[in-house]
Amino acid sequence: MNNKIWLSSPHMGGTEEQYVKEAFDTNWIAPLGPNVDGFEKDLSTYLGNDVHVAALSSGTAALHLALIILGVKAGDEVICQSMTFSASANPIAYQGATPVFVDSEALTWNMSPKYLEEAIKDRISKGKKPKAIIVVHLYGMPAEMDLIMEVADRYEIPVVEDAAEALGSSYKGWKLGTFGAMSILSFNGNKIITTSGGGALVSTNEEWIKKARFLATQARDNAPHYQHSHIGYNYRMSNICAGIGRGQMEVLEKRVASRRANYSFYKETFADLDAVSFPDEPSEDFYSNRWLSTILVDSNSGVTREDIRQALENENIESRPLWKPMHLQPVFADAPFYGDGTSESLFENGLCLPSGSNLTKEESQKVKSLFRSCFNKENAI
Ligand SMILES: *Cc1c(COP(=O)(O)O)cnc(C)c1O
Repeated sequence: MNNKIWLSSPHMGGTEEQYVKEAFDTNWIAPLGPNVDGFEKDLSTYLGNDVHVAALSSGTAALHLALIILGVKAGDEVICQSMTFSASANPIAYQGATPVFVDSEALTWNMSPKYLEEAIKDRISKGKKPKAIIVVHLYGMPAEMDLIMEVADRYEIPVVEDAAEALGSSYKGWKLGTFGAMSILSFNGNKIITTSGGGALVSTNEEWIKKARFLATQARDNAPHYQHSHIGYNYRMSNICAGIGRGQMEVLEKRVASRRANYSFYKETFADLDAVSFPDEPSEDFYSNRWLSTILVDSNSGVTREDIRQALENENIESRPLWKPMHLQPVFADAPFYGDGTSESLFENGLCLPSGSNLTKEESQKVKSLFRSCFNKENAI
């Protein structure tokens, strides 16, 4: 375990333990307390735009509550970016609703605004207007939010931003997580900052955030006894985890800088390899936290992304193919899909490289030489 080079591992800043100790010293060992309030405040201050934040047990829980608050019910349809982690789509199924998957565009790897509109038109013509649109900022890269919001607004469908991978990224100067009617963040162990496990729901609508906190704490009505008029959930973040989060917020900007430096390192290091291409920010409007450094490998070069992944794995270095699109997953085989195969080809040719903010110089040099040797070997044959 010690020698393994990870894709993305937790990286503490140093003050986390102090916040956790405070929780112990004051006996706030519960899913409420000063760290939960403090972490929510830190996040809303960081994101700006007058957002309110509910700290929750996971990003998946946040997405589930977002759909409940938007009124998604059994039999409804919800549009979701196909290329993403399954947690973006699972909450649709929790509600008994049907996901309608939309392909990626080559520019950002995120939801294609063109196929989004095609999907909306076609679902409406079939008699069902989608209840919500879940757009994801994969690997920290902003989706084309102007175009997506324009389509969503025109058809009056609320957008839920899955910014689980994108804390610290921005679009046109606005932090991701502030564009949707609601947005979600994740603080899982592999994300840019972590609370060991956790998430948040973000919205400018304070009533919705209050409702999320209510539903997340078992939907207890205001009474001395246990009185319930809604189905509740146990989705609140613990005060211990929130303490870790408060410490992590102090180093978030440093973490973004380190992850962006990883990306620049790989890009410079592999600049001479024609078979390897990088997802650049399309313009100055797009600012990615570079949560994971990703590449595409041209398989006509004789080297595939699987060759590279295997070579790295043999040396105990973790890398991973890009997210496999949801419309290709057995569990969602029956769901409608709109697109042209862009996400499928990204999946086939894409690889995520070790990207931790705690990646050492020695480790990145090791990745570099192994990676390059994959190509030299092939060239020699
Ligand atoms: C990590 C992740 C989630 C889920 O967050 P959890 O906190 O692990 O539940 C959702 N969507 C995307 C795109 C993610 O990467």
